[in-house]
Amino acid sequence: MTKHIVPLLANLFFVASLAGAAQEKPNILFIMSDDHTTQAFGVYGSRLAKLDPTPNIDRLANHGMRFDRVYCNNSICTPSRASIITGQYSQTNGVLDLNGSIAPDRQYLPMEIKKAGYQTAMIGKWHLKQEPAAFDYYCVLPGQGSYFDPTFRVRGTKNWPGNTIRKQGQHSSDAITDISLEWLKHGRDKGKPFLLMHHFKAPHDMFQNAPRYDRYLENVEIPEPANLHGQPAEGFGSIATRPYGAGVTKAHPSWGLARKLGVAQDIPEPEHGKLAYQKYLKRYLRCVKGVDDNVKRIVDYLTETGELENTVILYTGDQGFFLGEHDFMDKRWMYEEAFRMPFIVHWPKGVKAGKVNDWLINNTDFAPTILELAGVEKTPDYMQGRSFAAALRGGAKPDDWRKATYYRYWMHMAHALQVPAHFGIRSDRYKLIFFYGINPNGRGQQTPAAWEFYDLQRDPAEMRNEYSNPECRKIIAEMKILLKQTREELNETDAKYPAVQAIIDAHWDK
Ligand code: CA
Repeated sequence: MTKHIVPLLANLFFVASLAGAAQEKPNILFIMSDDHTTQAFGVYGSRLAKLDPTPNIDRLANHGMRFDRVYCNNSICTPSRASIITGQYSQTNGVLDLNGSIAPDRQYLPMEIKKAGYQTAMIGKWHLKQEPAAFDYYCVLPGQGSYFDPTFRVRGTKNWPGNTIRKQGQHSSDAITDISLEWLKHGRDKGKPFLLMHHFKAPHDMFQNAPRYDRYLENVEIPEPANLHGQPAEGFGSIATRPYGAGVTKAHPSWGLARKLGVAQDIPEPEHGKLAYQKYLKRYLRCVKGVDDNVKRIVDYLTETGELENTVILYTGDQGFFLGEHDFMDKRWMYEEAFRMPFIVHWPKGVKAGKVNDWLINNTDFAPTILELAGVEKTPDYMQGRSFAAALRGGAKPDDWRKATYYRYWMHMAHALQVPAHFGIRSDRYKLIFFYGINPNGRGQQTPAAWEFYDLQRDPAEMRNEYSNPECRKIIAEMKILLKQTREELNETDAKYPAVQAIIDAHWDK
């Protein structure tokens, strides 16, 4: 008998909770920092957790839900933001690289949520070039913006981007939070639910913290990752990747960017690398500290007004980041540190405290999820992501949930970062990457093409490329089929890029 009653009760409960949600839609506060990686949290349990770098964000996770398998589909600022605002992959939304933009009539998340009765605001780093006109209110940094004395673009009498305000004497994290608090206190219609997208510039490079953090961690030895020195290690990477990237230590074949950290270059390794790492991490973590303290200011406000209970706070970073692992700085690679996103949800009314989720999620899923939380019954057909709102209610993973998540980095060897173009797929356990090593138009420097394959269960730090391991032949063949199917399903093939397709054809079966 219980077999029948339990689902019935569960359904009744679900219907009742939906009815409650219809009466009082939750506010949605989407907080995104720039390049805040999972290693730099307490709650993700990395080597840096003992430094307690994010006590306030950790509190949100401990009273809400931590997501462990959230990935971006293109590990760089503008494309990640484009996927979040459109619910689409790069070739569908057209933002392949930092030159991309999203026009107001394709700013789908604010457009759709408005139809559900929400007021919308976009505050902080926007980085999608065109006017965020689909939002009711915006106050955004131009491009990357400045850490100090930041200027913001606002709606006004002049055409975009003509109207600006300047926050003289302020650090960007403080200024962005002041603007959000001002909007929450005086700018919004308190009779309507809101979607506030609050985007920090920090801790993007080159890291500049507010002066009050100058001495934070001053006398602390920051733990090094086990794979900082002696990279690229034997077995890691391939001919397509080993000479490239941006090293922290001078021993890395592609060292240069770390010169900006200001460590005397005549100091020999490994001392030089140790000093560079300490400088790198302290500058980064001082910016993270400023983000974490400012998150608390907003949470405190929502607590004071009694709105915390029914506000969904989502905290993420636009992609991950290397903090010396594999002797890398920066992001862009499909390796876990750069590919994985932090994702935390706090919502006392809707999420039970202390849960951890392991569904394979990516940033095209954020907009569908936020829309479902806002009461939109069906994800718009043009969105490619899928809502995981059921996960917040403690639901089981649907049988047809994605088995692997797709990734593509287009900006072949761009800037000083020297990361070759690649695409790949990651399942719960395995990762297959193809480095095709050319610009989409076929011009410019070409780098060697190669495959890499990692077993993340046996080798979570991705120290051994097992593409040539005969024991992996069968699973690699299966992953290749899945990769091909996924590219077709997502409109992510290279039909428009014959130079890339020629390299894929020449290497697919190698
Ligand atoms: Ca970023």
